Amino acid sequence: MPESLLRLSLPNIDEDAIAAVAEVLRSGRLVHGVEGEAFERELEQWLGVRHAVLVSSGTAALHLALLALGIGAGDAVLVPDFTFPATANVVLLTGARPVLVDVDARSYCVSLEAVRAAIESWRGPERLRLLMPVHEFGRPVDMAGLRALADEHGLRIVEDAACAIGARDGAGLAGTLGDIGCFSLHPRKTLTTGEGGILATADDALAARLRRLRSHGMSRGAQGLAFDEPGLNYRLTDFQSALGRPQLRRLHGWIAARRELARRYLAALAPLERSRRLVLPVDVEGHSWQTFMVVLADGIDRGAVVRSLAERGIEAGPGAQCLSALAPFARFALAPTSNAMRLHLQGLALPFCERYGEPEVDRVAAALHDALAEPA
Ligand SMILES: *Cc1c(COP(=O)(O)O)cnc(C)c1O
Repeated sequence: MPESLLRLSLPNIDEDAIAAVAEVLRSGRLVHGVEGEAFERELEQWLGVRHAVLVSSGTAALHLALLALGIGAGDAVLVPDFTFPATANVVLLTGARPVLVDVDARSYCVSLEAVRAAIESWRGPERLRLLMPVHEFGRPVDMAGLRALADEHGLRIVEDAACAIGARDGAGLAGTLGDIGCFSLHPRKTLTTGEGGILATADDALAARLRRLRSHGMSRGAQGLAFDEPGLNYRLTDFQSALGRPQLRRLHGWIAARRELARRYLAALAPLERSRRLVLPVDVEGHSWQTFMVVLADGIDRGAVVRSLAERGIEAGPGAQCLSALAPFARFALAPTSNAMRLHLQGLALPFCERYGEPEVDRVAAALHDALAEPA
């Protein structure tokens, strides 16, 4: 009997979430209802943050964060060279200039040293105003260190925690430590509403501005509705919020299961690291493991490995992108010898989610051992 297709990840939607969505659909109240309000209050509790603002995607969250901070033409923004392109697309779309920073080969994130060097060597003409760290695949960036650097140089911080809900470093939860944090609720993330995003901030004025920008620049005052600045429609629907609420109650358990699964993978794949066929990610405390990406040794043909896994019904593929390799960022590209470029070319994301366990890991590990057994 052929084994079933092993997907990169599966959303985790229980019957109570489906019932909650059906109830909203039957109510006829699809937007502006009680579910969105309730979900925001529950997220504020879960994240331990003063304000959570729901939006229609992680990209919408990133876009509004930049708009709310007044980032635009004449400004420069530090972004990692290895990320999902949305992080830097929004920088270009506000008219600002992305400044690409190479990432660390093992954490896939920017190091404090690299950020400091990029800040200190920046010569303009744009004014450096913002740091956008990415907690790549759920690996927490050192936010206390970044905050100190940002304060020293008068910079703001927007955290791209799109794939890092629940990640934690010594300072606290990823996405709650910058001026604004952004999360995605896309199906590839641990918590999903189909599409969706969350903004987190401790700042009352920023939160009010984010709420206005999300909904046509509109606010409700003593005189009734006011439209005091241009805005967008980046709202989440109420049935999406109804989908998210029951999942949030299970999220701690899911992240714990993902940590367990990552450890299982690391043990099963350790022989391939010892034989220098691949490099494994590092298991740090507080990692929330949205994606499990290994890096194939130089000279190994990733396309051939992906095809070999596919023949065994296993989905695998690139983890994230090197922005320097993409057309919109060509003008700002780093040298092609970067860690980001190697991760772009040789990174391999493996099937990973809390619904998988020992049988799936064993199956992937066996297939990968076979695929890497032939001489390169
Ligand atoms: C998923 C992701 C995004 C985009 O989120 P969407 O909800 O798909 O718009 C942005 N940045 C990173 C790092 C991501 O992983």
